[in-house]
Amino acid sequence: MKITFLGTGTSQGIPVIGCDCHVCNSNDKKDRRLRVSVCLEIQGKNILIDISPDFRFQMLRSGIERIDAILLTHEHRDHVGGLDDIRPINFKYRMDMPIYAVQRVQAAIRKAFDYIFDNDYPGVPKVQQIAIEKDKKFMVGNTPVMPVEIMHAKLPVMGFRIGKFAYLTDVKTINNDQMQYLEGLDVLVLNALQHTEHYSHLTLEQAIALAKEIGAKTTFFTHLSHTMGSTADTEKLLPENMFLAYDELVIESEDPEFGELESISI
Ligand SMILES: [Zn+2]
Ligand SMILES: [Zn+2]
Repeated sequence: MKITFLGTGTSQGIPVIGCDCHVCNSNDKKDRRLRVSVCLEIQGKNILIDISPDFRFQMLRSGIERIDAILLTHEHRDHVGGLDDIRPINFKYRMDMPIYAVQRVQAAIRKAFDYIFDNDYPGVPKVQQIAIEKDKKFMVGNTPVMPVEIMHAKLPVMGFRIGKFAYLTDVKTINNDQMQYLEGLDVLVLNALQHTEHYSHLTLEQAIALAKEIGAKTTFFTHLSHTMGSTADTEKLLPENMFLAYDELVIESEDPEFGELESISI
């Protein structure tokens, strides 16, 4: 299993248009963050979690040419805005893209991208919506995926656990009944927005506390705002075994179930 971070920034990305701050002006590659998404390569298949407005560029930059399925955490535009750009994959591989999401998110997709569903023009993206449900493990090809419901303020969002890896973004709180699905993780990806309180996102301090409670062997923080500070400065604030994710970070494990981490590389 191989995890490629395609984007690790909050909804405006970093740099922010027109911003003069030191983070937006930084020359460190790790301070350039597209909108959040990861690609999981499992047994030769590529599973995308969220399809950001930067999807097209992310695919070109990473050299990933094919996506076999998409899992959606929720319907906010920074997580679904790139959907139109699956067309080259539809055309080249003659496949409808399977999209796994809860019914509420499916309805939001039908509304936001009505042209995909409303006409017969051959050039539109071809999708196959597959409903998932809280507390019900589902299969993506041969890969079992456990959805983990997390709360983005009042909006339920899905996180995903595959083997000993879990990806949770846009968390503010997690209800107790879902914590059982997060036991025994090797790698956790969790959102951490900024230092100051936000109604629907974890601050860095809150994210560290939640990561400790979940207790994964290694935690990576994602969905960062420029107000967090530079990657180099923020890393100094992190406890052992916690790191900032950054765009194009790749984590690999030879174990398809994602047991021990074999290596962490750029
Ligand atoms: Zn800035
Ligand atoms: Zn978001």
